[in-house]
Amino acid sequence: MSNKKCTSCNAPLAEEGATEFGCPACQYHIQRCYRCREQSIPYTCPKCGFGGP
Ligand SMILES: [Zn+2]
Ligand SMILES: [Zn+2]
Repeated sequence: MSNKKCTSCNAPLAEEGATEFGCPACQYHIQRCYRCREQSIPYTCPKCGFGGP
């Protein structure tokens, strides 16, 4: 079982095309699903509150 979840919409990251990157502010591991990436849903870091496109 994977515990990967989209940081934006909390959906399980099973689909291909998901993206992962470190928070620019605190390096928290942010993960976004394909849908949120395609639609440019903003993310907010759950750790430090940093937000971005
Ligand atoms: Zn998502
Ligand atoms: Zn952060």
